[in-house]
Amino acid sequence: MSALTLTGGRHPCFDEGAHHHFARVHLPVAGFCNVQCGFCDRRYSCVNESRPGVTASLLSPEEAVEAARAAAEALPQLSVVGIAGPGDPLADAETTLHTLKGVREALPQCMLCLSTNGLTLPLFADALAALGVGHVTVTVNAVRADVGARIYDWIDDTGLRLRGEDGAALLLERQQQGIRRLSHLGVVVKVNTVVMPGINAAHVADIAQTVSTWGAALMNCIAHLPVAGTRLGASPASAPSTAYMEGIRKAAGRYLPQMRHCMRCRADAAGLLGSKGILRDVPKPAACFARI
Ligand code: SF4
Ligand code: SF4
Repeated sequence: MSALTLTGGRHPCFDEGAHHHFARVHLPVAGFCNVQCGFCDRRYSCVNESRPGVTASLLSPEEAVEAARAAAEALPQLSVVGIAGPGDPLADAETTLHTLKGVREALPQCMLCLSTNGLTLPLFADALAALGVGHVTVTVNAVRADVGARIYDWIDDTGLRLRGEDGAALLLERQQQGIRRLSHLGVVVKVNTVVMPGINAAHVADIAQTVSTWGAALMNCIAHLPVAGTRLGASPASAPSTAYMEGIRKAAGRYLPQMRHCMRCRADAAGLLGSKGILRDVPKPAACFARI
């Protein structure tokens, strides 16, 4: 099995050869986040998993299930239904799990997928696996608290707001526990890392080495896209070049297979990777979900 053929060849992100043939849809039900990354502007989709484009709307679980059902009708290549923002899907886990349960019942033929910062992952790893979520992406931007402290402004642990190394250390501990648990349960874990020169870029190979020992199967290094108005987005010069990213992936690739075809999809993306399709534009039965 090729390093990037992790799921039988049907997941367009986890299976390198699948993205020309299989489509995914992201259901934008996750409006909140329990972390503040220094590069994130909450008006935009999560840049951990999404390019910074505004999601067309936030859906209720019921609206999202109807949207997924309509997408499956319109997109015969649809193989994956995922939740990837615009906030963190496990910051309001009740909404996310309710949505996934509805999709599982409505579309049993589709794989389920989710991305998260991992802060509450240990609490919900078993529930995700029980629902048949086979693929989870966890964004790990640092595996040392001092590096994490440069990235995260705060971590909100059920009302307790932690800053600096305390917050970064807690997030790291939860990410480790969550990834180990998912891996133990047979869920395929991809780690996303936002690569920021001068912040964590020299640390990315260490991240790859560490998360591989936790059970991660794949890594997706994403070039930081500076967003004006954010603490880490002041200088467009901090955006790494394609050649720079290739060097990063080469170093990290000593420890984990690297994904190279990520399209930085929106939280409401629909269709083949790179198609620029969004859920709102998928043909659907009239008056099915007016808010999309
Ligand atoms: Fe933004 Fe995602 Fe970071 Fe939350 S985890 S602050 S939504 S980039
Ligand atoms: Fe796949 Fe990257 Fe798009 Fe996520 S953002 S669905 S990993 S291509």
